[in-house]
Amino acid sequence: MKAFAYVDPRSLQDASTILAREGARARLIAGGVDLLGELKERLVEPEMLVNLKSVPGLDDLRFEADGSLRIGALAALSAVAAHERVRREFPAVAEAAESVGSPEIRNVGTVGGNLCQRPRCWYYRSALHNCLKKGGDVCFTTTGDSRYHAILGGGPSFIVHPSDMAPALVACDARVTVAGPAGKKEMPLEALYVLPSVRIDHETILQPGEILTEVRLPASASTAAGVRSRYLKFKERDSMDFALAAVAASLSMQGATCAAARLVLGGVAPVPWRSKAGETAVTGKSVDLASAGAAADAALADAMPLPHNGYKVPLTKALIRRVLLDLASNGTDLGPA
Ligand SMILES: Cc1cc2nc3c(=O)[nH]c(=O)nc-3n(C[C@H](O)[C@H](O)[C@H](O)COP(=O)(O)OP(=O)(O)OC[C@H]3O[C@@H](n4cnc5c(N)ncnc54)[C@H](O)[C@@H]3O)c2cc1C
Repeated sequence: MKAFAYVDPRSLQDASTILAREGARARLIAGGVDLLGELKERLVEPEMLVNLKSVPGLDDLRFEADGSLRIGALAALSAVAAHERVRREFPAVAEAAESVGSPEIRNVGTVGGNLCQRPRCWYYRSALHNCLKKGGDVCFTTTGDSRYHAILGGGPSFIVHPSDMAPALVACDARVTVAGPAGKKEMPLEALYVLPSVRIDHETILQPGEILTEVRLPASASTAAGVRSRYLKFKERDSMDFALAAVAASLSMQGATCAAARLVLGGVAPVPWRSKAGETAVTGKSVDLASAGAAADAALADAMPLPHNGYKVPLTKALIRRVLLDLASNGTDLGPA
């Protein structure tokens, strides 16, 4: 690992100013679970690490009087997973947090770091492959082993978005606050992410000096408002692993009918993939095997598998059917779908 300076800013403004001034010479570090891997592989070789943990007040996890939930960027994933009220009111978010890596990773990894982590593509992570995302001129997936790559939204790079938290938070209508040299701005979490066709060097719109400070979930997306949510992740191995495919969904039910739905896929696209076609297919319908199947088919209608990842299409469809049927039955049905 290359030597670097380690800076402990005392305020967000200081952190942001340093990062904006240093540009590519500096990197923000939170828990370091993801960044340390990049440093050790020499995928990034910054002169300076800026420690976000020295900025006070960013690890808050609290419900406001209006029932909305604020999660500070430095909140540990384990804190989200263990929070009783989060588990009750935003089950998809707690399930996603609980599904990340191992207890050690969840204790050290932060929500902000999880949302901003870099792709796990083995070509991107290999110092031997100068891929498109690292300034090279080829995505090795197109000629190499594509079994873990994108089936939706890919090209010219076929990475998949690795975060478990992002699909669950998008399904629960999350908004994020970003602090930067020009002040603070707020946006839907889904607007943070960009496809490789828009930006190849990074997966978010964040520019040097911009720091994600907080995630906010509206009360209207909670079980207290009658909205049910779930996160279902399929992994290749039972121990810690990233998703081969994952589905986050939230449904407002009126009796057996779905009044509103949000359906977000993980592990299959370069961004958390919101499927409005899938949402439309189930909205206004009684949620049963037929409508859940129609939603699954609609969500994967545009899938374009690579040579080795065609299996992700039926896998993702099965997860969608299971989640929708489970939500419709309010947790009593997770049988085969
Ligand atoms: C063995 C292993 C297994 C894993 N399994 C999973 C898994 O199953 N599911 C999953 O989702 N993740 C998984 N991860 C990834 C890991 O859980 C997340 O990367 C972790 O949450 C990162 O948080 P961190 O605070 O350590 O981030 P860091 O490593 O500190 O930062 C990650 C990146 O985000 C940037 N960053 C950090 N905080 C912010 C911020 N507030 N604003 C802007 N940019 C920021 C950093 O500059 C860096 O580029 C795994 C990682 C490992 C090593």
